[in-house]
Amino acid sequence: PESWTDHIREEKVGIVAASKSKGAPNLYGTFIHSAPGAFLASKLGLPQPETLRRYQAGEPALPGPVLVGGKGRVADTVRNLLSDYTFVDGVTQGVKFGGLVFDATGLRTIEDLEQLFEFFQPAMRSIAPSGRVLVIGTTPELSASVDEQIAQRALEGFTRSIGKELLRGATANLVYLHPEAATAATGLESTLRFILSGKSAFVDGQVFRVGKDDSTAPASWDKPLAGKVAVVTGAARGIGATIAEVFARDGATVIVADIPAAGEALSETANKVGATALALDVTAPDAADKLAEFATERFGGIDIVVHNAGITRDKLLANMDEGRWNSVINVNLAAPHRITEGLVAKGALKEGGRVIDVSSIAGIAGNRGQTNYGASKAGVIGMVNAEAPKLAEKGITINAVAPGFIETAMTAAVPLPTREAGRLMSSLLQGGQTVDVAETIAYFASPASNAVSGNIVRVCGQSLIGA
Ligand code: NAD
Repeated sequence: PESWTDHIREEKVGIVAASKSKGAPNLYGTFIHSAPGAFLASKLGLPQPETLRRYQAGEPALPGPVLVGGKGRVADTVRNLLSDYTFVDGVTQGVKFGGLVFDATGLRTIEDLEQLFEFFQPAMRSIAPSGRVLVIGTTPELSASVDEQIAQRALEGFTRSIGKELLRGATANLVYLHPEAATAATGLESTLRFILSGKSAFVDGQVFRVGKDDSTAPASWDKPLAGKVAVVTGAARGIGATIAEVFARDGATVIVADIPAAGEALSETANKVGATALALDVTAPDAADKLAEFATERFGGIDIVVHNAGITRDKLLANMDEGRWNSVINVNLAAPHRITEGLVAKGALKEGGRVIDVSSIAGIAGNRGQTNYGASKAGVIGMVNAEAPKLAEKGITINAVAPGFIETAMTAAVPLPTREAGRLMSSLLQGGQTVDVAETIAYFASPASNAVSGNIVRVCGQSLIGA
């Protein structure tokens, strides 16, 4: 094969239903968690992947209390918005923090950066497994002065470095808040609740940008999508099937779409999650019309569209034929663009709608044998950047996830050594689950995420690739 993804392609073209399997066993993870494995690992100093704590309805969002530090404009807001969380006042012997939140919006000069050291240094050994570090700053480009912009930009390197130091499934992320957000900063709440929970288990070392608009909290944070109609393309299997499942869990009415050839797997997914199936090739010239008509007749329109359908057709560029090039660009990039524009033009995607695209770390870092795929997934990022301000006029947001190594049929087909490397070359020392991508998409889809647009969030366990 010309690259590891050549194996994937063969697997993906022929087999539809078989790919519903959970992926290949994680040999290193299994060994390291066995008694002799753990003993050897600790003697040799080998990295030990943690079993990540993920969201479960009814369980506390975090594995311990939250310590809030910093003297900016959002420290009190955080405590007010998260009134159902447990907060503590300082570092106490024996207490492991579920979250460390630092309000860095008060940092205006280079000297002020010392406050980061003062808050975090004493607390670094007291973070619970799967705990969260969250730094909240002000959008650097919108800072009031040169000094403030420098200090705010510094937060990125700080947070990403903490992410690389944290152990046992703990993560670090950064949120930049628009300087004109009102004092109550309610637009921040959905992002806080996502990051400070098991829903963000595989999101590490990321930067989120939150705008100035206020938001209304959903009636229940366990059913944030109640009353919403959502479409997920490529939902017969893999990540798309899990997105449909998470959307249904969150209360949405879900339409799952996939190519006619995947019909059997699609009905299976639809039955499993209580969704409605629609046979739809996203590259068909009338795909937007068909989708608009179907959703409008049955459910009165669309609130959320997830462009998840995607393909790989790998070859070194020197050996690539036009067919491989065109099909990848068409499915991954041209189709989502055309469908979004079509749905908006027809008014089928309602005001206040949500568009979520699926990019890839291959679109950020590039990948050998994937010039077509890399171009398509980088184009998706351009699409989000370009459309965000336009769609804002209709109160529609557009964001993208960029998954890293996710345990699917796609990655199960990768040869073992490469697969193990893909897992281990990240801060969390493992691959992610499809649910990790789905939870991030559900966060973007939430009505309370109206202040979140134009974001590209990697779901990659802070993979070293393209970092
Ligand atoms: P998958 O191959 O398991 O599922 C993709 C689905 O899209 C399939 O059901 C397929 O039938 C459908 N599809 C393909 N062409 C279509 C078309 N023209 N119209 C409608 N449906 C179509 O892939 P996956 O791993 O679940 O990936 C889902 C998305 O995530 C893709 O966009 C992929 O590029 C992206 N992604 C995956 C990973 C990973 O590690 N698995 C990493 C980065 C990005």
